[in-house]
Amino acid sequence: MDYGLRGQVAIITGSTSGIGLGLAEALAQQGVNIVLNGLGDRDAIEATRAGLSARNGVEVLYHDADMTQPHRIADLVSSTRNAFGRLDILVNNAGIQHVAPVDEFPVEQWDRIIAINLTSTFHATKAALPPMKAAGRGRVVNIASAHGLVASPFKSAYVAAKHGVIGFTKSAALEVAQQGVTVNAICPGYVKTPLVEAQITDQARARGISEEAVMRDVILAAQPTKQFVTVEQLGGLLLYLVSDAGASVNGAALTVDGGWTAA
Ligand code: NAD
Repeated sequence: MDYGLRGQVAIITGSTSGIGLGLAEALAQQGVNIVLNGLGDRDAIEATRAGLSARNGVEVLYHDADMTQPHRIADLVSSTRNAFGRLDILVNNAGIQHVAPVDEFPVEQWDRIIAINLTSTFHATKAALPPMKAAGRGRVVNIASAHGLVASPFKSAYVAAKHGVIGFTKSAALEVAQQGVTVNAICPGYVKTPLVEAQITDQARARGISEEAVMRDVILAAQPTKQFVTVEQLGGLLLYLVSDAGASVNGAALTVDGGWTAA
């Protein structure tokens, strides 16, 4: 299926792994040039960059902005504009997790989660909106979470940040609604990525139960389908949102959670 995106340019934050990398692949398959971002081993990132480019016949760049550093986030956006002369799509995806009771939650982990999961979305969107408004078209898609709509225990910083992302999404969407730009949030349920694999270990420790019990009774207990969401399924929604067909979807928090938040 052709979504009419060929030649566009997208930044995906936190795209060296997991959902972000899957979303980059979905966009690249449609002929979108990509700016990857995220942490990791430089050789592995270069192999990822080169593979994405070769598989899809698009240009793929990598920028190492740390999402805790506002000036590096601004540089990510300005470097993209300098390299390609345009910016059509921004996917704010970078995110981390820490699982602990509130009264034991490390302050530095709270600050880091708020910085990466919430505040980086503000900084990147702030930098991306001027060129999008000038072009009369743009798409910002924020990867929130089912935890942007409902809570689970031991995830106070993550839940606060993701609720914040949805609030930010709505406010920004209202500001740009008449300028051809949309701002939306995707709220995935559980996707089996490195972030979730780490949580299985952490949740087992916090709850004092086995990892198998966390998978069965905690993670997939919340998801009525009893199946992990796939990155391909998230990619399908992203492509719709950034295409012309998605032009009237604005300020929305769209769930892809197997029915979790319907309960
Ligand atoms: P992941 O750990 O596989 O990937 C996270 C990405 O963010 C990596 O590329 C990592 O390098 C990058 N990152 C982390 N800290 C960064 C920093 N300081 N600066 C720049 N990049 C940084 O995780 P994932 O599961 O793919 O999660 C991606 C997004 O999806 C997150 O926002 C997460 O909250 C959200 N999400 C995940 C799930 C899930 O079940 N996996 C569910 C709902 C929402």
